[in-house]
Amino acid sequence: MADVRKHEVVVIGAGLAGLAAALDLQAGGADVQVIEAQQRVGGRVRSMQQLGSNKEAGGTYIGAGYTRIIGTAQRHGVELIDVTPMLQFFREQELVLDGKIIRQADWPHHPANRFPDDDKPIMPWAYHRQLTVRENPLSEPGAWLEPDAAQYDISVRDWLEQLGFDDAGVKLAYGMNVSFGEDARDVSALLLFFRAAFSVAQRRFAPEGVLGYTARNGVARIPQAMADALEKPVEFGKQVTAIENDGAGATLRCEDGTRYRAQHVVCSLPFGVLRDIAIDPPLEGLQAEAVSSLPAQPMTQVYFRHKSNFWEADGYAPSLFTDGVAGMVAAARNGDDPNEVTSFTAWTLGPNAAVLDALGAAGAGKRVIAEIEAVRPAAKDQLEFLGMQSWGTDPCARGGWAYFRPGQITRFAAVMGDPHARIRFCGEHLGRVSRGMEGAMESGERVGAEILSL
Ligand SMILES: Cc1cc2nc3c(=O)[nH]c(=O)nc-3n(C[C@H](O)[C@H](O)[C@H](O)COP(=O)(O)OP(=O)(O)OC[C@H]3O[C@@H](n4cnc5c(N)ncnc54)[C@H](O)[C@@H]3O)c2cc1C
Repeated sequence: MADVRKHEVVVIGAGLAGLAAALDLQAGGADVQVIEAQQRVGGRVRSMQQLGSNKEAGGTYIGAGYTRIIGTAQRHGVELIDVTPMLQFFREQELVLDGKIIRQADWPHHPANRFPDDDKPIMPWAYHRQLTVRENPLSEPGAWLEPDAAQYDISVRDWLEQLGFDDAGVKLAYGMNVSFGEDARDVSALLLFFRAAFSVAQRRFAPEGVLGYTARNGVARIPQAMADALEKPVEFGKQVTAIENDGAGATLRCEDGTRYRAQHVVCSLPFGVLRDIAIDPPLEGLQAEAVSSLPAQPMTQVYFRHKSNFWEADGYAPSLFTDGVAGMVAAARNGDDPNEVTSFTAWTLGPNAAVLDALGAAGAGKRVIAEIEAVRPAAKDQLEFLGMQSWGTDPCARGGWAYFRPGQITRFAAVMGDPHARIRFCGEHLGRVSRGMEGAMESGERVGAEILSL
């Protein structure tokens, strides 16, 4: 095998999980090589400077208690910015139902408000988050994996019905631009409890008065700094297509013909990508089923520049939270002064993301602008389309993040990350006590430590 590149460990994927594993392996003395299909590191962390002030297309918000990400940024000299002053503006958005704006002040008494009386002041975009914190049966984030928690691995719809919600109430509580699944039927309540428990738990590590951070000049500086700290530079354009295991190691085949040989393989690919890779011997049983069926959230962002402060003309907040394809239209405030709106991003999740994807970038831009103009005529001709990012159609991501359908946590979570022959798996979907960027780091550190312990 003359043209095979040999290493002790090859890490597939230069996202946060793969890079965290690689750095720990390197620190433990291993000869480690990271290979990446794209021409950049970061994966689902992507800062797109070409979109002007709309910096982030992927992971953005670093909770003030994300100790792994914060520690990594500090170690590698990436400056974090406290976004607490900006967060109040994210709460200042108008609700749009059936093409009509409902001001926050009018919501508690609005006829469309189906929440229980005490909860009527809570806006729909915040409701399920507050409810899952308030009603959370999990005492700490890791408890979602305990056998007792299986009773909550039911649909969000069933859970809300148990709390007395009717169809319209379910749709308001979990039916608009949701972060996991198509609707309340499609997602496990246990996943929402895990997220809520993580969100609360990480706050214990937060400095007083600080809610979260982002990275100055883009979050992608964090994976970039991690990659820069590797002794062996990441090799780009290496799209893995096959992993062949044998008694002594594994051979990886890439689309461009390159082959790698390693004693251990760290695979950080999302399952939607992994399912197209030929693994020999093949995955079996529940693990194979998990890889082939764990869904990932369709997510599409559309970016705009504004030509005037049109919201001053109609008196509404600049940002909207809609039940239409525009999803959440967020005014970005990426300048030094959080009062200044620097641009707009429409965040569309779930089935509406697929609607935008089918229109193509320019068509999606037109559609979202038309929807905004229809509800607020003051925006007419005031928005200019800058670009679009679709995570659902990205062949290296196949979705924004993984989620679990009802019953899938009980079936898959304990086994889906098990080592297979020479391969160990990591990635945000395999975070056990943390989620998002922090979960990706957690999973990478875990497999790094496992390999070093062998
Ligand atoms: C729009 C969006 C917003 C988000 N916001 C937040 C947030 O605010 N806070 C937060 O904590 N988290 C957020 N997240 C989640 C967070 O970004 C991810 O959980 C995390 O970055 C995932 O890291 P990962 O290493 O597991 O996967 P990835 O970053 O996806 O890394 C996998 C890598 O593998 C590469 N790859 C794919 N196929 C191949 C192949 N065949 N061969 C070789 N390489 C391959 C990919 O290119 C990629 O670089 C967000 C995600 C999205 C999409």
